[in-house]
Amino acid sequence: KSVLLFFNSSVASSHLVTYAPFTLFPTPVPKAVFLQALAVQTHYNTLVDKISQDTDFLEEALSSTIAVDDFTARLFKLHQQILKEGRSQSIVLGLNRSDYMLDQRDDGSSSLKQIEINTFAASFGGLSSRTPDVHRHVLKVAGRLEESQNILDNNPAAGLARAVAKAWELYGSERAVVMFLVEESQRNIFDQRYIESELWKRNIPTKRKRFDDVCKTGSLDQDKRLFVDGQEVAVVYFRNGYMPQNYISEQTWDARLLMERSLAVKCPDISTHLAGTKKVQQVLTRPGVLEKFFPDQPQVVEQIRATFAGLYTLDMGPEGDKTVTMALEEPDRYVLKPQREGGGNNIYGSEICQVLQGVKGSTERMAYILMDKIHPAPVQNYLLRRDAPLQLNNCLSELGVFGTYVRQGKDMVMNECVGHLLRTKSSEHSDGGVAAGVAVLDNPLLI
Ligand code: ADP
Ligand code: MG
Repeated sequence: KSVLLFFNSSVASSHLVTYAPFTLFPTPVPKAVFLQALAVQTHYNTLVDKISQDTDFLEEALSSTIAVDDFTARLFKLHQQILKEGRSQSIVLGLNRSDYMLDQRDDGSSSLKQIEINTFAASFGGLSSRTPDVHRHVLKVAGRLEESQNILDNNPAAGLARAVAKAWELYGSERAVVMFLVEESQRNIFDQRYIESELWKRNIPTKRKRFDDVCKTGSLDQDKRLFVDGQEVAVVYFRNGYMPQNYISEQTWDARLLMERSLAVKCPDISTHLAGTKKVQQVLTRPGVLEKFFPDQPQVVEQIRATFAGLYTLDMGPEGDKTVTMALEEPDRYVLKPQREGGGNNIYGSEICQVLQGVKGSTERMAYILMDKIHPAPVQNYLLRRDAPLQLNNCLSELGVFGTYVRQGKDMVMNECVGHLLRTKSSEHSDGGVAAGVAVLDNPLLI
């Protein structure tokens, strides 16, 4: 029955379907910390949305990064072009996932620390809607009925679809489709299918298209309505386009520009894409910045700031110099992050020294930020993955919380927390998500 989670297999055997990797048992998570993560989500949604509308802030926050990072610079250029032409669509759809690790304190308690927020193609909302039944089943088979009843319901797929549906309704054309902009060969297709299926339940038509389809058949009519393959598109839901290698040619960039310019609701639009960069995350931790976004809400500021880990600039100047010294002295205390998404890009341990030694005297260092390394308490578990031997591992988990919002002009018409994701990996890996083949799907067991 629903204990099956599917994952498309590797590119080499792309017709093969296999199960998505998961932990044998759910992982204990302190209830208070879990609830804290859910409670702050709507504020994070608001924050992302406010940042996306603050052109001056984005420009200032990203100015050093775009001077040295070509990909971010290219995205920023697109953003400026859209601003110059004027945004044609006032409906904004945000599907975010804020990720956390629980930093272990000396007294044995743990504190919630944000790893990053994903505003682009935040995935696993679909598959994590199915994981509760997997662990309920496993626990029953293991004779742990009571625990099986404590597995939380979770249905981010329905929540994500609710927001997409809202944006589609506001767009207001029954014939127009929700276009999932996907990769050439999509390993994680079933994650997306659950969201598509929730939309079809609401009689909202969905289509899956690639950049190449948009290049070849995409056009705007005189009202800037987007047509792809002859069909009007109400919502473009990007599940591809966050990595430099997704833009294989100038035509791909043209296709992105065409979609950004159009009347279709973009999830995310280019400004919200930029709001999700790691550089913006670092700038938010500077004194007074959150206050600027929430001038009359000190309790919101406090709630958000409580989840911040230490983040440090590598811009040129004394502050950045201090960051370099700190990192070189104790590299194991930090993670060095370039402006990239998708897992496997961060730098740890002695490699931090190698990289920083190379760039510390030049502006190249501004492509990175430095972050305190979070140390969650390891928990033992079995990771079930196709073709991998079954063995007990010391594991670390990362909690994700899904948030959705829809804004029309100045009105926030929807702002919700729609579920969670727990991913677990062996502690011998410092980096990498489920798609990268390192982490596996899990469920929190609240304690
Ligand atoms: P990406 O955009 O590639 O997902 P992340 O910032 O989420 O970048 O980092 C990828 C992975 O690296 C995370 O899933 C986590 O396992 C690990 N990681 C990132 N930041 C930290 C940190 N500050 N402390 C410990 N581990 C981290
Ligand atoms: Mg991540």
